[in-house]
Amino acid sequence: MNTLGHLINGEISTEATRTQDVYNPSTGQVGRQVALASKATVEEAIAVAQAAYPAWRDTPPIKRARVMFRFKELLEANADKICELIGEEHGKIAHDAAGELQRGIENVEYACGVPELLKGEHSKNVGPNIDSWSEFQPLGVVAGITPFNFPVMVPLWMFPMAIACGNTFVLKPSERDPSATLFIAQLLQEAGLPNGVLNVVNGDKEAVDTLLHDDRIKAVSFVGSTPIAEYIYATANANGKRCQALGGAKNHAIVMPDADMDNAVNQLIGAAFGSSGERCMALSVAVAVGDAAGDALVAKMRQAMSDLKVGAYSNRDNDFGPVITKQHQEKVVGFINSAEEQGATVVVDGRNPRVEGYEAGFFVGGTLIDNVTPEIESYQAEIFGPVLQVVRVNTMQEAMDLIDAHEYGNGTCIFTRDGEAARYFSDNIQVGMVGINIPLPVPVAYHSFGGWKRSLFGDLHAYGPDAVRFYTKRKTITQRWPSAGVREGVEFSMPTMK
Ligand code: NAD
Repeated sequence: MNTLGHLINGEISTEATRTQDVYNPSTGQVGRQVALASKATVEEAIAVAQAAYPAWRDTPPIKRARVMFRFKELLEANADKICELIGEEHGKIAHDAAGELQRGIENVEYACGVPELLKGEHSKNVGPNIDSWSEFQPLGVVAGITPFNFPVMVPLWMFPMAIACGNTFVLKPSERDPSATLFIAQLLQEAGLPNGVLNVVNGDKEAVDTLLHDDRIKAVSFVGSTPIAEYIYATANANGKRCQALGGAKNHAIVMPDADMDNAVNQLIGAAFGSSGERCMALSVAVAVGDAAGDALVAKMRQAMSDLKVGAYSNRDNDFGPVITKQHQEKVVGFINSAEEQGATVVVDGRNPRVEGYEAGFFVGGTLIDNVTPEIESYQAEIFGPVLQVVRVNTMQEAMDLIDAHEYGNGTCIFTRDGEAARYFSDNIQVGMVGINIPLPVPVAYHSFGGWKRSLFGDLHAYGPDAVRFYTKRKTITQRWPSAGVREGVEFSMPTMK
């Protein structure tokens, strides 16, 4: 069986004392294995990135941008292969994988503008014959650690901008679906990136901990679950590194009584069940305001869900595919069981979907649960599966209080025709990304992405303008060139412009 290796200094290395099975979740079969990097392998990747740094830092930004332009073209030319690799190991259907790739490419397009983005700030005559400017210098070797659910898009949030800014990079992708990530890294190499500027180490906790404890790593970008995000942030900080760690979510949609209910149902279906609910921006809770809205929502959802098609990634007619592993399938089903046991009503039950020809696949069908209350386990946890829970409240304020009380604050949305209500909601809700009649308010590449509360540890959000700040450090220079023969006197007081 083939073993997927690492990309170090432009070469594929399959050094491994340990390996792990990589599944095709649609068939439930092991497709290949992935090498799990030892501490020594990660240290080698860091050393290579460190050696490549001085020349890459000194490469003019326009030349770094040209590599990104070629990378974008190669990503587009290889789109089918990339989507196939995503489908094989993640399970998402080709139309969804294509959306992921396109969102990733948009981050590369933004990184192509790096000469403009790195322009500093300049002030002339801050004092007599004194000029001052701020410039943004790269950090050195930086690391990225990414989750399984977007094996292409999330790495593309990180390394294109980090590299365009002049850093070198060590990426540790998810060990559950590493092939698409490794393939796009090879495409960047093909686009003309010098060896050692981007290195990929596949692995698990041992690889991550090596990155977190090595002094040569100056910053860490992490995306994954909240407990791990919290650990990464604390450990990186304790070791003096800059860190942004994006975690899990529980995204609520408020359905107001005046909402266009058919539209809200269409939007909710895509946002709750697309990608099997394995998106950190998936809408997993609908909060219906008033009984009439609740009854209409549940009735229309039940009807619309009768058409949902869950199945193998290879059939483009399917709406969504399997979840990532057998254990995760069991966990999602466990949450549905516990919701039922704790008093909620399972309206549409996806616990035993039949997918002909793929009986061993890790499938969960679309599930709708009504009468959910905030105390129950399935409400509190991030399920990360195709499950939409309905909570019923009497007022919009009650709905907002519910959202604010939840530990996560990644995304949220309101369905309404009332502009005043929508404005009040977006002004006051304690969530980082807000949609108004937009179910998945994932910011475009030229804004930045990030949640509040326990959905993000750190200050700067991912990609967009925040990424330029995250991957650079500001240096401010103040300069005077005295005319020949002119000498300043000794000055003991704080220099000011009087
Ligand atoms: P995960 O936390 O299990 O893994 C993420 C990364 O951390 C992987 O590379 C993994 O190898 C590594 N890792 C796992 N356990 C570790 C440990 N004990 N020590 C060190 N490293 C460890 O997350 P996942 O299951 O791959 O991804 C799903 C999660 O990611 C969900 O919670 C989802 O909400 C979240 N997510 C968040 C965002 C966001 O932008 N906020 C985006 C995508 C996914």
